[in-house]
Amino acid sequence: MDSNKKITLIIFSMVTLLTIVIVALVALGSRQSGYDGAKKRAYLTADIVKKSLTTHMVNGNMHQREIFLDSISELKEINDLWIIRAKSVSEQFGKSTIGNEIPRDEIDKKVLRTGKEIVLPNESIKSATLRITIPYTASAIDKPNCLSCHNAKEGEVLGAISLKFDIQDDRISSIAVLLNIMGIITIFLILILIYISRKIKPYTSSFDSITKVLKQVHEGNYSVRAKDGVLKEDKEAFQWLNEIIEKLETVLTGIEKNLTAFVHNRTSNVNNDKLLTAKEIIEDISEIYNFKKTIETDLTKEDIYYRLVQVLKNRLKIKDFYIFENNLIRDERTMIFSTDGTKACCHLVKNIKEQCRAERTKTVVLSQNFPEICRSAVCDECNDYVCIPFSINEQKSITIHILCENEDDLNYTKNQIGIIKKYLEETKPILESRMLMDVLRERNLIDGLTGLYNRKYLDDFIDKKMPQELVHGTTYAVMFLDIDYFKMVNDTYGHDAGDAILQKLSKTMKAAITDKEFIIRFGGEEFLIIMKNPTEESANELATKINQEFAKLVFTFNNESFSKTVSIGYAFLPEDTDQIWKCIKYADLCLYKAKETGRNKVIRFTKDLLEGKDKDKY
Ligand code: GH3
Ligand code: MG
Ligand code: MG
Repeated sequence: MDSNKKITLIIFSMVTLLTIVIVALVALGSRQSGYDGAKKRAYLTADIVKKSLTTHMVNGNMHQREIFLDSISELKEINDLWIIRAKSVSEQFGKSTIGNEIPRDEIDKKVLRTGKEIVLPNESIKSATLRITIPYTASAIDKPNCLSCHNAKEGEVLGAISLKFDIQDDRISSIAVLLNIMGIITIFLILILIYISRKIKPYTSSFDSITKVLKQVHEGNYSVRAKDGVLKEDKEAFQWLNEIIEKLETVLTGIEKNLTAFVHNRTSNVNNDKLLTAKEIIEDISEIYNFKKTIETDLTKEDIYYRLVQVLKNRLKIKDFYIFENNLIRDERTMIFSTDGTKACCHLVKNIKEQCRAERTKTVVLSQNFPEICRSAVCDECNDYVCIPFSINEQKSITIHILCENEDDLNYTKNQIGIIKKYLEETKPILESRMLMDVLRERNLIDGLTGLYNRKYLDDFIDKKMPQELVHGTTYAVMFLDIDYFKMVNDTYGHDAGDAILQKLSKTMKAAITDKEFIIRFGGEEFLIIMKNPTEESANELATKINQEFAKLVFTFNNESFSKTVSIGYAFLPEDTDQIWKCIKYADLCLYKAKETGRNKVIRFTKDLLEGKDKDKY
């Protein structure tokens, strides 16, 4: 409903209400004045009757009072009239001989008893009467003095007069007055409404037009403009309003156009409101900047991945996801993060470049696009998945594997792809530099010929990691390995042949260990294997396996084929000693014993191997 109609309706309602109140008041007033007029006439009649009866009495014409009373009752408006004699009067002057001057009803009796008048209106649609019963009381002041004839006290009720008045004429004239009033008010009301409506229309139509435009702007439509107002002063206001909307549209379109390139469009507001979109974009940019500043000061790759997980979980509200790091040189995948209690659709760990569709095509893979779009992905619980590939450099890439519970989840995730990529882009240079640092650090700890850890790694392990592990009750076995008559290989076939044999032994050892063990190239052709939480059996089994597997290898140099053997000694920590260097020494002692007793052997440390003081100290 427009403002004009609203105002007209309000005024109409108010004036109508006022009319009803006035009419009701006038109706009540005229009814009351009808009663009052009738009452006045009743008192006058009662007084005339009283005076006439007294005159009749004084003149001794009391027996002719009936004629007088009949003529009074025939007066217009008087429907009925009768008088009632009090008991005391009947006792003094005898019972009435004419008419029936006894009380006709309870009203008469009550008036005689109480000496108070009773007025009773009786109205129906067709007629309206007023019954009035007025008492006659004895008074010495009256002329002639009532007490001079009546044996009565001052104020005693001597009788009463009952009259029934027809007040229908009063009522009809009141209704006529009311109808006149209502007619006049209605005519005035119509005129007022027409006048007001015409006068306020220009204002209300301007107001409506502004409201309409502002409503659309509020809903995000900045292309609307207000139509010119009717009044002179409106035109300026309309122009300002249109200018403001235009400025808003220009600025917001600019923000959207220029900044979307930074963070990708992921509009989530329902009406595609440019203002809300701009707010979202600016918030995204600020968050990304903050993220970048934070990860720049993070020391390790793990810290950066941790931040990325936080962003995905808390800021972008991605519920279930995995982060995989792909080693493109080895064509292997490592899981960096997984949400608790979820099961990935993808379990690839090898052949990533070929079998991971996202990695191979370098495009986002949406399971919804085609049934079994990625042949390597099999989903048990979730409905859909989204895989986002991201290349770090030629050696490393990341795959974000997101699981979606339902269609809403999937649509939400699809909207977040752009911003996820943006976060990944910001992560890329920093992650790459931390990966490079890791490689350098690793290289510093890795032996170039064999790819095994070097002595520095062992020193670091003993200084940093081992004390922490010992607190948690970790036990160790230290294994010392040395190739038998290795010098002979160098001397006979050359240094390169020696190097090749060292590499073969490294490979044999790597194949034999699990993730609970690691190998160190301790010296030229001497190696250490550190086992975590070993048992007698597992240590003996590992040493025996390496010894046997290596012995099986056949080397061919200068058309000559031969095999080599390895001697191994091992000791336990804390079973044999609680000092790591002593444990290494004991393993070395076993190795020495193996060499001394014919080589190609595995010897476990026992106390007998110690001599002299050492034996006593043990
Ligand atoms: P044993 O059975 O007593 O251990 O005899 P061995 O000949 O193996 O012992 P020795 O300690 O006399 O010889 C170790 C040799 O290993 C000496 C050194 O030339 C050789 N060597 C050390 N480092 C390297 C290396 O990196 N490459 C090659 N090819 N040889 C190495
Ligand atoms: Mg040797
Ligand atoms: Mg040696």
